[in-house]
Amino acid sequence: MTHTTSPILPGATIGVLGSGQLGRMFAIAARRMGYRVHTLSPETDTPTGQVADVEIRAPYDDLDAVRSFAAGVDVVTFEFENVLSATAEAAAEYAPVRPSGAVLHCTQNRLREKRFLSGQGFPVTPFRQVNSLEELQAGLAEFGYPSILKTAGFGYDGKGQSRIGHPGEAAPALQAAGQQEMVLEALVDFAAELSVVAARGLDGQVVHWGVIENVHQRHILDLSLAPARLDPAIAREAVEIAQAVLEALDVVGVLCVEFFLTRKGRLLINELAPRPHNSGHLTFDACVTSQFEQQLRAVCGLPLGATDLLRPAAMANLLGDLWEGGPPNWAAACAFPNVKLHLYGKPDPRPGRKMGHLTALGATAEEAAFQVEAARRSLCPHAI
Ligand code: AMP
Repeated sequence: MTHTTSPILPGATIGVLGSGQLGRMFAIAARRMGYRVHTLSPETDTPTGQVADVEIRAPYDDLDAVRSFAAGVDVVTFEFENVLSATAEAAAEYAPVRPSGAVLHCTQNRLREKRFLSGQGFPVTPFRQVNSLEELQAGLAEFGYPSILKTAGFGYDGKGQSRIGHPGEAAPALQAAGQQEMVLEALVDFAAELSVVAARGLDGQVVHWGVIENVHQRHILDLSLAPARLDPAIAREAVEIAQAVLEALDVVGVLCVEFFLTRKGRLLINELAPRPHNSGHLTFDACVTSQFEQQLRAVCGLPLGATDLLRPAAMANLLGDLWEGGPPNWAAACAFPNVKLHLYGKPDPRPGRKMGHLTALGATAEEAAFQVEAARRSLCPHAI
């Protein structure tokens, strides 16, 4: 089916495949601009469903449900990249899917993504496909110890990853992974982790929010600072790479490029996320146009909004661990006047689960980070 390229205007309905916090913040931005939002996922009372007009519960492989969902909306987007290709194709029979299923297909598998990127000349973390113990040992001989073994598909936030510290850990790591397609990566001794969140419109215009500096704990994003404290030449290079990636993939929508900056000053792409990204959450409070509103504008074929950072900002994730000693003290965090509280409406605070985040604005990114970390500590003072 060919779809019109005239803009999808306020009053229209956006379909979101997936129902987590990214869809929730997207839905908030969309409803603010007068759009309706439908969401489809296998769950109910979801972070997205709580703010959407309609929440459909169906597995992603129920293609009839996906088709009827798509028939009821004007455009389909997604909030996580592990939507099956068949799901995106079924939706595309009834409504435009943006970004396209081809972008999803490339980015939902680490090997495909890395091969695509390296084939296009982009710098990536050294990697090797691993299908057997022999191949793993050959990779380890090349990269040394420690190296990181990752599942090629369905991995995020360190899930499906194991660090191989010495030869004796190779066989158990492969066994633990089962029969999955695997990729071995050299461990990068990085000076910093950075991301560039960018958006590309239907007309090919690319905008970005500059470079964001990220700190991870236990493989999960903990803290983001904008602007990144960085040599301007490296910042320019990161932005140029990100823009070129969006063009090479012909993305319509938001895409985040995650980088390692090596101690020698080299940028290596760690991975791509073809959607709004956790490191871009601070754009909600700190920028003229947030990554969520930009996703909406892009998928609707509207002109993109300005991405200016109004003030330096920092974001701290709130994981389920914070609930260990009882509900966090929200009033204490709200006592920080430059801090914004975001909660995703998840009822079950499991350790490691992203429950919400705090954003602080400051005179500098460091000051904002200081504020946001102090506010987070104030949530459960007895834990410290
Ligand atoms: P990923 O799910 O691949 O983004 O990995 C999550 C986090 O694990 C990254 O943000 C890094 O902090 C760490 N990590 C993953 N791969 C590597 C690597 N090859 N070298 C160093 N650290 C890594």
